[in-house]
Amino acid sequence: MHAILDAGMVAHVGFCVDGQPFVIPMMYARIDNVLLLHGSIASRLMGTLGSGIDACISVTHIDGLVLARSHFDHSMNYRSVVAFGRARLLDDPAAKAQALSYFVDAIVPGRAAESRAADRTELAATHVLQLEIADASAKIRSGGVKGNLADADLPHWAGVIAMRMECGAVEPDETVAPGTALPASVSAFLSAQGPAP
Ligand SMILES: Cc1cc2nc3c(=O)[nH]c(=O)nc-3n(C[C@H](O)[C@H](O)[C@H](O)COP(=O)(O)OP(=O)(O)OC[C@H]3O[C@@H](n4cnc5c(N)ncnc54)[C@H](O)[C@@H]3O)c2cc1C
Repeated sequence: MHAILDAGMVAHVGFCVDGQPFVIPMMYARIDNVLLLHGSIASRLMGTLGSGIDACISVTHIDGLVLARSHFDHSMNYRSVVAFGRARLLDDPAAKAQALSYFVDAIVPGRAAESRAADRTELAATHVLQLEIADASAKIRSGGVKGNLADADLPHWAGVIAMRMECGAVEPDETVAPGTALPASVSAFLSAQGPAP
């Protein structure tokens, strides 16, 4: 489950406010058995979520499109986690600053050390939520087309289209001096991605 969470970048965070369900896409970072979430203090939902109500967090990766000979057996290869817990707001500015550095490293490992830490104003404007995972499950589908063997005689094509998320072009900000080398974290991140399949 930790591997699936660590490979993800966006969590869908579900919770109910006054009987109304919300499912909000958010960035997250995992530290041990804790998921960190963050957002503006102006966000009503963040404040409510941080009050300790029940939450359900889901992370999904699509690994392939499974095209069967029958409509019924079309599917996807995937890895997903559904986690349950309650979030609490972090108050301590030092803990909040550290949590924000974890977010940056969750985007590109090593990036936090290559950029400025949050200052007091930024910390004051930010809610950081800590959700201890109380329960969780993972579900994985992999492999090829499954289903009715009799369909193998049908004239339709069947197979799997592999899917993955990949980086596009790197575009330095216009304020970066021409010829500036990429920082180590970015180079390592791009190298770790490997060649396209
Ligand atoms: C990309 C993707 C597409 C899917 N498309 C469909 C679809 O179109 N139709 C469909 O019926 N199902 C689909 N699924 C599977 C779906 O997520 C459920 O697993 C499935 O519907 C079984 O639901 P259930 O309520 O019977 O599960 P139960 O077995 O009753 O679930 C028990 C518990 O298992 C956990 N759980 C359930 N599903 C998952 C999961 N995917 N990952 C982690 N934990 C889980 C939850 O905690 C849940 O409370 C898809 C899954 C993924 C990842």
